[in-house]
Amino acid sequence: MAKKIQAIRGMNDCLPEQSGLWQWVENNIRDVVASYGYQEIRMPIVESTDLFKRSIGEVTDIVEKEMYTFDDRNGDSLTLRPEGTASCVRAGNEHGLLYNQQQRLWYMGPMFRHERPQKGRYRQFHQFGVEVFGLNGPDIDAEVILMTARLWKAFGISEHVTLELNSLGSNEARANYRNALVEYLMAREELLDEDSKRRMQTNPLRVLDSKNPQVQEALADAPSLMEYLDEESRQHFQGLCERLEQLGIQYRVNPRLVRGLDYYNRTVFEWVTESLGSQGTVCAGGRYDGLVEQLGGHTTPAVGFAMGMERLVLMLETLSLTSAVPQPVDVYVTALGEMAELAATQISEQLRDQLPGVRVQTHCGGGNFKKQMKRADNSGAAVALIIGENEVNEGVVGVKYLRDNAEQQTLPRVDLASHLATLLAK
Ligand code: ATP
Ligand code: MG
Repeated sequence: MAKKIQAIRGMNDCLPEQSGLWQWVENNIRDVVASYGYQEIRMPIVESTDLFKRSIGEVTDIVEKEMYTFDDRNGDSLTLRPEGTASCVRAGNEHGLLYNQQQRLWYMGPMFRHERPQKGRYRQFHQFGVEVFGLNGPDIDAEVILMTARLWKAFGISEHVTLELNSLGSNEARANYRNALVEYLMAREELLDEDSKRRMQTNPLRVLDSKNPQVQEALADAPSLMEYLDEESRQHFQGLCERLEQLGIQYRVNPRLVRGLDYYNRTVFEWVTESLGSQGTVCAGGRYDGLVEQLGGHTTPAVGFAMGMERLVLMLETLSLTSAVPQPVDVYVTALGEMAELAATQISEQLRDQLPGVRVQTHCGGGNFKKQMKRADNSGAAVALIIGENEVNEGVVGVKYLRDNAEQQTLPRVDLASHLATLLAK
């Protein structure tokens, strides 16, 4: 046998047994964004490398070591998108969607980062994201957070996630804070690991984000960003906190929350869970009021978030919260004998006409009754229809209930659709 070719490390197939759960997750997301009047935007998966360098920042994990970058045949440097915000801003600028306008947008799709694959961390993963442009008040920050809270409710995981909030302030406030932090870190350099020492020089705020417990200990008395906030950012943050309280959204202020991308300012937030081990952030976002201009557009306030869909799916699986995921088949139609096969196909087609949304699988490939019933059972269907020569001659159909103890019935063909409609609506 020829040697099998395998998938790229960290890039997963979504197999049929999982795709139902994924579709259920995606449908819930679509319903929730629609209920807030947001519109979908779809961007290409490949962009100019410069787009990500200029937006995410040269000295970030993503740009320094995680991007899939390659030369196009004409020598242009291209990159598989590591996130959606930069592409969304690029598209908005390119098509004139942002200047003097308000846009509430969402997207969903694969992202690529060359990281060490582990549970909840892959090289191809999927994000659902929201980006809002043209609104600068804390009201819209509260809205996007409310939307995420509604999603947790839809998935039944509200008790398993917590909201962490921080404000990064204005560029100027952050620069002042940066100086104070560097001074503090310099005095404790021997307590830092190599990574943090390097970051202290290049992107000191990222040291706050270190996962190393020893570094975290060294940070115990570090100055807090909150003390350096400019007045406007302070009011903005206060406005957001008040709104969340009025709306019953619980949060924890985490002054160490800085996010790994350079474009954020003012509000930043993360939803974290303890049910996934160390990959605990399921959703992250914030304001990026400077990015549109940085990418060649007019100054436009913006706020958004991205949700890691694999982590969400993992959470639902880990917490066994998948019972609402529908089975792929509702009705399995068996056929015994040649004459019955044609009738089974006709009856199936009729049901598909009469009962939109009901999933009907018609048995193919023959076989005896026992074999067909086994397939019916494995399909997950609630009902098997039994069609043999007698049924065809008499214009009836046998109805066998696969998931409860109700007795098998024989129904006239004309009554079948309405009977199934009532049964499956339960
Ligand atoms: P982390 O700290 O876990 O590396 P990040 O700060 O790099 O996350 P973002 O760029 O903010 O993540 O992306 C938003 C969300 O996308 C994350 O909170 C996470 O849920 C998900 N995510 C990011 N990278 C990966 C990955 N390699 N595999 C799976 N999900 C990911
Ligand atoms: Mg990362």
